[in-house]
Amino acid sequence: MSDRGFALITKGMLSTGMRRASGAVSELGLIEQIRQQFARKRSRALELGIGDDCAILRPRSGWDVVVTTDLLLEGRHFRRDLHAPESAGHRCLARGLSDIAAMGADPIAAFLSLGLPRKSMKSAAERRWLARFLDGIRWLADGSGVMLAGGDTGEVLGDNLVADIVLVGQAPRGAALRRSGASAGDAIYVTGALGGAAAELEAMLAGKGRRLKQEVASHSPGDPRSHSQSPFQSHPQSYPEPRLQVGAALRRRPGVTACLDLSDGLSTDLWHLCQASGVGAEIWKAELPVHMLAAGLSSRFGEDRALTAALHGGEDYELLFTAKPETRLPKRIAGIAVTRIGVTLPRSKGGCSMTLVSADGGRAVLRPDGWEHFREHRRSP
Ligand code: ADP
Ligand code: MG
Repeated sequence: MSDRGFALITKGMLSTGMRRASGAVSELGLIEQIRQQFARKRSRALELGIGDDCAILRPRSGWDVVVTTDLLLEGRHFRRDLHAPESAGHRCLARGLSDIAAMGADPIAAFLSLGLPRKSMKSAAERRWLARFLDGIRWLADGSGVMLAGGDTGEVLGDNLVADIVLVGQAPRGAALRRSGASAGDAIYVTGALGGAAAELEAMLAGKGRRLKQEVASHSPGDPRSHSQSPFQSHPQSYPEPRLQVGAALRRRPGVTACLDLSDGLSTDLWHLCQASGVGAEIWKAELPVHMLAAGLSSRFGEDRALTAALHGGEDYELLFTAKPETRLPKRIAGIAVTRIGVTLPRSKGGCSMTLVSADGGRAVLRPDGWEHFREHRRSP
């Protein structure tokens, strides 16, 4: 695992003479190490990968290409004192793959741009951290059938790592799922369970960080081929699982009208869907599939805490989608639970309003209260 990655960095640098007299590693040395670490047989859609000025992609003829880019900022999206390096790497790629899943597309290639503080290249401990971060990316890439096809590497001034991941995917022409396809009366569904990522983060912040980080490192998904069972469910914050197979299945299903992934929290992402489709929505509180970790919060802090995590806690990377009312869906798609949680409504005079309906029929306004950058929040990683 990580030791091997680290050994590769060291060996790669030494053998290519790219290690500086100071012991620090150079930009070219690091790129060579990444190229070796991610060297794989070419996929059909990737004609040329790392090493030239551009990668060459060859999507299936008649298919659309979908592209997404996501920033991972140290201190904002992960913290070294809370997240194991493999978890930070996993989350970096998972963010992009989840967007590809939300479009119902198949991933083709990833591009990783790294802005690294000078210290990353200097001490052995820092280089080891980076090697383990790359392991986290590689394991998820291998498990998802996506190739790392290029990127860029540079030095940032300051102490925090910046990673930008670009994902390229493909979907049959016109078949990619959009946020804008819902009409009033459509059924609203989510995959998996909600609030787990926020609940795990809460436990990390509550001072269990150190122990959890060790546990998480040892529960790292690791090389996916060595696992028969998914380790994702118990660590939705550290190792969120992009719903690629569900997304691809939804794109093939007639009657699915709109889809997006839950990165900012159900309330905020539902609001995005409502805005894009020009509809309102009603969510049935009793139907929300609350993650077991979030449910655990309610025994300590009251029921509201679990509901808040499920409604507003971000980073679950589940899919939120709509389907025409007559569409019949199975309880599980690609092995993942699919739960109906509400219905879209005609847009009201006031705009795209969202309502939370309790089991006794009580109605309350549901405000988008998930994550938004450049805004004051109750939480940060
Ligand atoms: P250029 O000067 O043309 O940008 P670089 O020296 O930056 O070339 O990159 C050389 C090759 O290494 C390119 O194929 C590029 O895509 C790849 N590369 C650079 N940085 C990374 C990275 N962080 N991850 C993956 N591939 C990378
Ligand atoms: Mg470059």
